[in-house]
Amino acid sequence: MTGTTDIESVETFRARSKAWIEANLPLLSEPWVETRELQRLLFDNGYAGISYPKEYGGAGLTIEHQKAFYDIVAEQDRQVPSELMVSIGIIGPTILDNGSQELKQRFLPPLLRGDEVWMQLLSEPRGGSDMAGTTCRLKRDGDTYFLNGSKMWSSGAYHADYGLCLCRSDWDAPKHRGLSTIAVPLQGNPPGLTIERTRAVSGEAGHFCEEFFDDMPLPADNLIGEENAGWSVAQSLLFHERNAVGGIGMGYLGGWRRGGGAGAFTGIDVGPLREAAERRGVGGAVGTMIADAVISSVVDPLTSDRITLGLQLGTHKGHRGSLSKLQSSLSLHGVARAALAIEGAAALVWDGDDVQLDNAGTSWLAARGSTIAGGTSEMQRNTISERLLGLPREPAFDRDIPFNEVLRNLGKF
Ligand SMILES: Cc1cc2nc3c(=O)[nH]c(=O)nc-3n(C[C@H](O)[C@H](O)[C@H](O)COP(=O)(O)OP(=O)(O)OC[C@H]3O[C@@H](n4cnc5c(N)ncnc54)[C@H](O)[C@@H]3O)c2cc1C
Repeated sequence: MTGTTDIESVETFRARSKAWIEANLPLLSEPWVETRELQRLLFDNGYAGISYPKEYGGAGLTIEHQKAFYDIVAEQDRQVPSELMVSIGIIGPTILDNGSQELKQRFLPPLLRGDEVWMQLLSEPRGGSDMAGTTCRLKRDGDTYFLNGSKMWSSGAYHADYGLCLCRSDWDAPKHRGLSTIAVPLQGNPPGLTIERTRAVSGEAGHFCEEFFDDMPLPADNLIGEENAGWSVAQSLLFHERNAVGGIGMGYLGGWRRGGGAGAFTGIDVGPLREAAERRGVGGAVGTMIADAVISSVVDPLTSDRITLGLQLGTHKGHRGSLSKLQSSLSLHGVARAALAIEGAAALVWDGDDVQLDNAGTSWLAARGSTIAGGTSEMQRNTISERLLGLPREPAFDRDIPFNEVLRNLGKF
């Protein structure tokens, strides 16, 4: 991020952005513009990577400017390529924090132009919460690394150009000290890579992928950060991910679906929910659920605003994004639960008659994902209790012993 002197004031930027958004960005109700094309439109007009430095193709402004832009987008129900949230809100900032000058110059401009889309290769079949326990192997031979193992639940790997992969490069070092992160090309059938698509519980096919690496060769230059310093890269990635999912910081791109809003993840907004309940005369316990959803729709943005301001002023660092992430995912799940309660048995019919509340069943299934993706709600609560409240850390038997021994000793614990 740039310093805040000598840059356009947020007020001037807001006025300029408003005029541009009104004139150029399609409404949500209009036919969808292809994601990369929309990103290119933002890039060509200086609105891609608003808080990225200019030297990497960004606008060189601050997260306050970025928030101002995307607040207008949300207010005006405009389309933005929020599908690129992982690329632009998570991976880009992680490369900014950890990449060498060459790496930043090579990867960030195409990422901001929408020419190269990135995703995350973190979770493994053995589990996702214990990220530091990754068992994908990375071994160097001269100028080439070789990757072995598998990753899963990777969102969008099938269409992405690169995945940022966390893997183990030193098995003799303690768990957190033998990890590395590397850029893995995903397109053009690279040797040693197989990608399979998975069907989600909501019926959606192909969003999730599983990757199998069989001695996949990768140029040593693709390493992001130092070898065996992957845990600090992962920490920075998690910081940006929590912020992005919680709707704050560099990752704030106006929500999970185009236009954002309280129902962003579920596709159900609080307004239609309230109207549907009134129409059907549903009250009582359902009324309480709707009231909770309405309260969240007011409180969540205020929480995000407060954390964004703290980030901007430098008073909030590190883990406050967990508050926003936890709160917003619980709210989204609450909205989906309320919709399910209003619909009742009709929610079992995937495409209902109610144009405002149809898909309540599938939305409920998808909303569960918001409490899992980007770190589960339990993991966010752990972070809040340990890092923000200073409560005792969760006991860990495997923190200081060589990872090889952890694996050998697992049966004894
Ligand atoms: C919509 C969606 C998109 C995703 N996209 C990606 C992606 O792009 N790339 C990627 O790598 N992964 C992705 N994931 C996977 C996601 O990161 C993992 O599902 C998540 O980290 C949890 O891992 P797990 O499913 O293996 O559950 P586990 O880690 O096995 O956890 C199982 C249960 O135990 C609880 N638990 C585990 N450890 C603790 C603990 N220490 N304290 C308290 N409770 C604990 C968890 O909260 C959970 O309820 C995505 C998931 C979803 C739902």
